[in-house]
Amino acid sequence: MKWTNKQVMDLKKLYPREDITISDLMKKFDRTKRAICHKASRMDLRRPKSKKSSRDKGLRKKYDREWFQKNKERLFKMRKERQKKIKIELINLLGGKCNKCGYNKCISELDFHHKKNKGKEDNVSFFLYRGYLKKAKKEAKKCILLCSNCHRELHWDRKY
Ligand SMILES: [Zn+2]
Repeated sequence: MKWTNKQVMDLKKLYPREDITISDLMKKFDRTKRAICHKASRMDLRRPKSKKSSRDKGLRKKYDREWFQKNKERLFKMRKERQKKIKIELINLLGGKCNKCGYNKCISELDFHHKKNKGKEDNVSFFLYRGYLKKAKKEAKKCILLCSNCHRELHWDRKY
């Protein structure tokens, strides 16, 4: 398909613009990436340098930071969701309820209590919140599930 004069003018205007992607152009002109780039190179047009491919480390860092700031809420939410999912999985692995009183309403109230002489490396939540899934699972297998009330009672009894 031949390029119309209008399209050529548009390409000349749009191709060098940083805020316009090749996909935008593909949609606008209904042409393949190859066709667009080929035409642009024949017209001696240049794309702005991609931010992503920037070799300037400082600049790259700045962009990464900006990206993180923009996306951090979404990232934190995703991480929380993932941790929650894994916690549910671990809880189900250990029977899904408090081993003493049978409480099973809210997962935030269920604790992993280490059985004696099982060689505790650290709390399950320590590994969970740092994303060490395998370790969290391995550690959970040394535990029984207790609700926070029963857990506290147990430690209180042991202390006094
Ligand atoms: Zn309980």
